[in-house]
Amino acid sequence: MSYVVDQAIERLKQAGVRITPQRYAVLAFLIEEDSHPTADEIYRELAIKFPNMSVATVYNNLRLFTKMKLVKELKYGDSSSRFDFSSTEHYHAICSICGKIEDIYYPGLDDVEVVAHNLTGFDVDTHRLEIYGRCPSCQQSHA
Ligand code: ZN
Ligand code: MN
Repeated sequence: MSYVVDQAIERLKQAGVRITPQRYAVLAFLIEEDSHPTADEIYRELAIKFPNMSVATVYNNLRLFTKMKLVKELKYGDSSSRFDFSSTEHYHAICSICGKIEDIYYPGLDDVEVVAHNLTGFDVDTHRLEIYGRCPSCQQSHA
């Protein structure tokens, strides 16, 4: 896992980005945490270790990581954006009750893009797929 952190840090350094302890912590947290946290959740978790850190610092770092394509911003529904460290492409299943997001590793549905091109003439860049339903723990508490 720390190898992944090192690699990401190396990419930032090569782009001339200064690595502060807070910046390192935000990135490492996103890599180690697979819960797709919001900026506020990251802030609350890291404020224990960095009491002087502001929520703006978290936002600035997330914006930087997103711009450098180390991290993906997920906008589902009208709740706050969630952030995902994305080394491998994957889809998401989203619980409509608690909002939990689970990763789905499934071969890319690239033929959808070919079909869309053939049907519409669009020059297709990308596609999104989200699965909605109730997660296992919400199924139990609402049974
Ligand atoms: Zn749920
Ligand atoms: Mn994910």
